[in-house]
Amino acid sequence: MKKILLLLALALPAVAQKKGPALKRPKLVVGIVVDQMRYDYLYRYWDKFGRGGFRRLLGEGFSYESCHYNYVPTYTGPGHASVYTGTTPAHHGIVGNNWYERETGKGTYVTDDKTVQSVGGSVAAGQMSPAHMLTTTITDELRLATNFQSKVIGLSMKDRGSILPAGHAANAAYWYDGTNGAFISSTFYTKALPEWVTKFNAANHAAEYLSKPWTTLLPIADYTESTPDDVAWEAAFKGEEKPVFPHDLPRLSGAAPAPVAATMRAAGETPPKATPQNLDLVRSTPFGNSLTADFALEALRAEQLGQGTHTDFLAVSFSSTDYVGHQFGTTAIETEDTYLRLDRDLARLLDALDKQVGKGQALVFLTADHAADQAAGFLQAHRLPGGGVGPAIVKDSLQRALVRLHGPGQWLLSYENQQAYLNHGLIAQKKLSLAAVQEEAADILRAQPHITEAITAHDLLHGSWNEGLGHYQQNGFYASRSGDVLAVLAPGWLEAYGYPVVKGTTHGASWAYDTHVPLLFWGWGVKHGESAQEVKIVDIAPTIARYLHIQEPSGCTGRPLTEVMK
Ligand code: ZN
Ligand code: ZN
Repeated sequence: MKKILLLLALALPAVAQKKGPALKRPKLVVGIVVDQMRYDYLYRYWDKFGRGGFRRLLGEGFSYESCHYNYVPTYTGPGHASVYTGTTPAHHGIVGNNWYERETGKGTYVTDDKTVQSVGGSVAAGQMSPAHMLTTTITDELRLATNFQSKVIGLSMKDRGSILPAGHAANAAYWYDGTNGAFISSTFYTKALPEWVTKFNAANHAAEYLSKPWTTLLPIADYTESTPDDVAWEAAFKGEEKPVFPHDLPRLSGAAPAPVAATMRAAGETPPKATPQNLDLVRSTPFGNSLTADFALEALRAEQLGQGTHTDFLAVSFSSTDYVGHQFGTTAIETEDTYLRLDRDLARLLDALDKQVGKGQALVFLTADHAADQAAGFLQAHRLPGGGVGPAIVKDSLQRALVRLHGPGQWLLSYENQQAYLNHGLIAQKKLSLAAVQEEAADILRAQPHITEAITAHDLLHGSWNEGLGHYQQNGFYASRSGDVLAVLAPGWLEAYGYPVVKGTTHGASWAYDTHVPLLFWGWGVKHGESAQEVKIVDIAPTIARYLHIQEPSGCTGRPLTEVMK
């Protein structure tokens, strides 16, 4: 008997060592952010979308029909940071694309980093890193969870659309430099571009896209979802008389027209160099998105994403929707055409995932970094409430009012992101109370017809809002980076930098037209269906964490969305 027990005991460790079922994770996570995409675009353009893009995501995946941003200001930097950190500017610190830095008295750009060097591009475009982002991202957490064996790559036309999603521990982040028409990086990530990136850049795709006019994908009469082509509130390209199709990109970018270049190549000659061409122009056309998709497919292939033992992460952001939206507004044929073409680019990406990673093997989410207001001119033309006001006017009137109250001096150091930065030194020197001057400035701002409410930094630091406008302001407030008084734009109103000529549109407010974005999940472990439950943008990162069985990002305030999970 004893002998048998001893034998059993000896056998036990061997039994325990037997491997159980392997941990189930998707091979690849693909995060897609569409810059400036309103929720309603999914359905506004539904009839015109093909089968393989948005309609495939909706038809096979899961849609959160009521996903909102829960802070202001709703801009690109904060948006991308919030999607990937699962928290708001109050914790990740990305309070705008730019903000006033009190220590230096200068503006800071969201991904500026003078301690790193450009790799593959101009100095100005390349000195970038995620250093200003103060919490980890879901992409960082994946790297940490797999002891840095997962591959994480971010890419976008915009630096901030690539760098913030890729996080602090990424293998690489690439963004576009219009001075040489190339995807570049910085020494934060690498000393030299990998060979596949250099090869991709050498093929001059941007110049190629700009060598043909931008005409509509469908006959122009089919764009019944959009306002007429020639309306007063759209902005023409520089060098163009009217904002109408066809947009003569070769002339506008200074490139040799495609047939000329082809003829020259056939004759053994080199067509005019890309240098005199304005390669930055591609950003403001749907082809900036196509270029991004081309580059994403190349990244998938060359980096063999989703083919290793550990889950990889590809973070893609499509920026051209934002440039086009700003220029032409939310109801333009140009905007519709950009989404119809993006739909095709998405189809190419999903198709590549099927082929390379395997059907249902990649987990994909798609959302936007903010939405957009209607163009001010469109609102006026249709007698709808709202409009555009110049921030310089707001700034001047606030400064003048403070001079009337307290005498001469530069009382206002900056007014940006709908926030007033007061001169703390001057206020102390005049022995005034900062809280009292903040309150005075708030009263002055409240008197402006396009401002609904103004909340002071003092109140945000000493109170707590669980809902409403104050809640949105508090979530967007980071004391050392935010202003002294935070204005809330009245519904429909936007601050227009070209004022008094207000063209196109913008975003940044706390109202649904700026906060309501699509949220689609598709692929590995995703149920088919939809939910009308209101969810927040900060819920995306913890949902991915739940799927992967990893930690949430360090400042995460969202909660995992479980309805979507199989
Ligand atoms: Zn944006
Ligand atoms: Zn924008």
